[in-house]
Amino acid sequence: MSNQGKWALVTGASSGIGESFSRLLAELGFNLVLVARDLPRLNERAAALEANFKVKTRVIAADLATDSGCKTIEDFIDANEVEVLINNAGFGINKSFLVSDIAAEQQMFDVLVRTPMRLMHAILPGMKERNSGTLINVSSVAAWMAGGTYSASKSYLTVLTESLHAELAGTNVKVSALAPGFTRTEFHQRGRMKMNGLPNFMWLDADVLVAKAWSDAQKGEAVSVPGWQYVLLSSFLRFGPRPLVRKLGMNVRVRQRNK
Ligand code: NAP
Repeated sequence: MSNQGKWALVTGASSGIGESFSRLLAELGFNLVLVARDLPRLNERAAALEANFKVKTRVIAADLATDSGCKTIEDFIDANEVEVLINNAGFGINKSFLVSDIAAEQQMFDVLVRTPMRLMHAILPGMKERNSGTLINVSSVAAWMAGGTYSASKSYLTVLTESLHAELAGTNVKVSALAPGFTRTEFHQRGRMKMNGLPNFMWLDADVLVAKAWSDAQKGEAVSVPGWQYVLLSSFLRFGPRPLVRKLGMNVRVRQRNK
């Protein structure tokens, strides 16, 4: 079936994984709603998509850590038929919970949990009624680690995705969580994480990751873990002894931290 004229909405579309999703969806013929805070950058992305793929675009500048930013997107979803939602916006703060700024923890929680939850709640009844649509929540392999608010938020996202996937089984609505490992984007630089010790083979390419996530969602997979290295790692994180898993999570965080 043609995707022409249908709308896909991507949060965090100004860079990294969200930017890759926007390009893939435009290539598939969807019109794109691009959401993030950086308006000039979104406008640039939108112009490139229109020129390269002959699709329509809408740009919405919204801070998804705020109630009003989240409401703007909910209102858009209520007023328009959106066929694809990619809940992708996110960031990490790379500080121990014991010394972090509570406002930063709250913002991270709001972007990673509150906003995706509300957008899913806004969009899924319509998708179910139309018996059509794709929802991808960009979670993380960190969902299976013990790594502060970030991990706990990604666990929430993965578990809620699995729950909704089960609830919508037997319909044509695709619900899937993408669990990336380390992927080359602006994420680590923005979060001031030291990544120089990470071997090259552990880095994923955002375009490859996103293509796999999309195809897994269309096949009806509840959770997509691109890359053999992360299939192995996530198996250990999910099924290995919890005390060891907790220790590994702690080591990763301490190594990344800029003292
Ligand atoms: P990125 O390149 O830093 O992109 C993050 C995107 O989120 C940007 O478009 C940013 O746009 C947007 N964003 C951040 N805070 C926002 C806010 N308050 N309101 C609206 N938009 C906001 O990082 P990325 O790696 O592509 O991250 C995308 C997702 O992948 C995140 O959920 C992240 O947790 C997840 N992930 C990444 C990795 C990795 O290794 N890269 C691994 C696992 C999971 P503006 O700054 O313009 O607002």
